[in-house]
Amino acid sequence: MISCEIVSVGTELLLGDIVDTNAPYLSRELAAMGIAVLHRSTVGDNAGRLRDAVELALSRSDIVLLTGGLGPTADDITKEVCAQVMGFELVRDEESENAMRAFFKTRGRPMPESNLKQADVPLGGIVFRNDHGTAPGAAMERDGKCVILLPGPPNEMRAMFTDKVKPYLAAKTTGVIVSHTVRTMGIGESDMAERVAPLLEGSNPTVAPYAKQGEALLRVTAHADTAAQAEAIIAPALDEIRSILGGYIYGIDVADIQHAVVQGLLEKKLHVATAESCTAGYISKRITEVAGASDVFACGLVTYSNDMKEKLLGVRHETLAAHGAVSAETAAEMAAGVKRVSGAEIAVAVTGVAGPGCSENKPVGLVYIGIADRDGVRTVRFETGRKDREFNRYVTASRALHLVWQSIQNY
Ligand code: AMP
Ligand code: MG
Repeated sequence: MISCEIVSVGTELLLGDIVDTNAPYLSRELAAMGIAVLHRSTVGDNAGRLRDAVELALSRSDIVLLTGGLGPTADDITKEVCAQVMGFELVRDEESENAMRAFFKTRGRPMPESNLKQADVPLGGIVFRNDHGTAPGAAMERDGKCVILLPGPPNEMRAMFTDKVKPYLAAKTTGVIVSHTVRTMGIGESDMAERVAPLLEGSNPTVAPYAKQGEALLRVTAHADTAAQAEAIIAPALDEIRSILGGYIYGIDVADIQHAVVQGLLEKKLHVATAESCTAGYISKRITEVAGASDVFACGLVTYSNDMKEKLLGVRHETLAAHGAVSAETAAEMAAGVKRVSGAEIAVAVTGVAGPGCSENKPVGLVYIGIADRDGVRTVRFETGRKDREFNRYVTASRALHLVWQSIQNY
């Protein structure tokens, strides 16, 4: 399998002024082509350090892709440095020069002569014309290694990669990489990783765990000559993961829990309603992000004050007085109340302490979720363990959505 690495060039990237979007884009594109990206690095507009970075990259990878530093100014040196490392002479390319003069003419601006250095291309290399800007890209091959130069501006880089570099690389490689992502909730990342530990040792497919705001994910990746062969390599691993993690899995390749919920409700022709206190609409916002939500979402009531919990949901005054707003009893009555008001088959309610300060003398991050469905009303208590208000609201919404998802499985 061909190995590749990406070098992003530009001092502005190191300073944090510009976020490097080129490298992730190229990573995704190359992976889809079956080219393994094994390293990525960032280097400033400095000839010595750029040379070091390119030499190191060439020592361990077949293909080195660079973006940035092809512009007209003195600090744009990627082409010069790479040509030197690869032993290529730079010569003026007439077609690029003409294109550049035309580019400035149509804009009615004079062309600074310094601009012409962009029209220099490696003699004996491959030139990629820039249809969206002035600096052409290039490829230089030597001793089975290859250096590819792409412009920095993302629109120019993407167009050149798609139209010119991709076909050039496709001729050099065979195979594809296929990935599937298993999404779980209710289990921690390390617990999940321990349970599937033997699978993590494999090299094809690779199984990699990672955590994402209250969720634990497993990415299963295989490379093969064809997509069908890659799927065949992945299938037994997915079967094993399903049998080990079972109920924790809410979807494979599904975007997130709200998509799984809406999809489930649509399939089973069910409706959901929400009553939210501490999340104040976050659950209904996430449900209604999903196209098709209007067929399954009955209503979302934000009942922040105790008064509104009583008036709109019928939570009893005595319940609030005896147990407080943040209590299992209140969560249960909120869920039952919104189920009654909406007529939805499934209702979920949340009440908790989002933080950063505590309320009712209860700890920050304490949450009660009530769920009402055809099996009656039940509640779940949990503590996020964090004082971070935004995190607590997000994770509470996720847990509520997960409970709705579990309820859907019983219909
Ligand atoms: P350059 O080709 O180095 O002159 O880059 C021109 C412009 O492209 C920079 O000022 C950035 O705005 C943008 N750019 C360069 N490299 C990247 C990158 N890796 N990701 C996103 N934008 C970039
Ligand atoms: Mg630059």
